[in-house]
Amino acid sequence: MNGNLIIVSAPSGAGKTTLVGGALKRDHLLKPSISFTSRPPRDGEEQGVHYHFVSRAEFETMIAGGDFLEWAEVHGNLYGTSRRMVEAAREAGFDVILTIDIQGAAQARKLFPDAISVFILPPSLNALVERLENRGTDTADDLQLRLGNALHEIEQYVNFDYVVINEVLDRAIDELAAIIVAERCRLKRRGGVAEQILQTFRKQEGGH
Ligand code: 5GP
Repeated sequence: MNGNLIIVSAPSGAGKTTLVGGALKRDHLLKPSISFTSRPPRDGEEQGVHYHFVSRAEFETMIAGGDFLEWAEVHGNLYGTSRRMVEAAREAGFDVILTIDIQGAAQARKLFPDAISVFILPPSLNALVERLENRGTDTADDLQLRLGNALHEIEQYVNFDYVVINEVLDRAIDELAAIIVAERCRLKRRGGVAEQILQTFRKQEGGH
């Protein structure tokens, strides 16, 4: 059976990358989708690890080729999820987690109504400002842009299946990991195995 598709979305600075990183460390049946982006790498970011970094022209060729399951322009840069990579990992039985912006999450949910969507909320506006400032990777303009987008983004939480509030990181990771594990135990996913187990009981009953 194909793995689940998990969509994680949040405003910038809500800590979704750290949170998803924590869930990935704990769960070896979970694989990240490494996005393509036209954004230049930040210090410490590696090609093929954090993102596949490409030029805007390369990205546009990929759009035209239908390579993306979803893509969006976020804060002036292009970001997209490779359809082929997600399909391959799910076919191999892995749950695939997409850490994407709100517009991309809406596209992915429409395309995959069975996807499990999780919204990460910062505990407060102050906490978000503090995280963005501490990150220190963005320019002052960039920071204002990200904060300006946050209200509109946060309003979208109502469209998600689950909400995790990232106040205490470990607890938030527990919650995200629990959602992913619980979704694997749903009847529609476990029904096949449960039926096989039931059959062994039926056979032994028939043998008596
Ligand atoms: P950053 O530049 O801070 O790495 O990412 C900016 C935003 O783009 C974040 O909200 C991030 O989750 C989002 N993002 C990263 N990859 C993708 C993607 O493949 N598709 C979409 N729609 N958003 C993405």
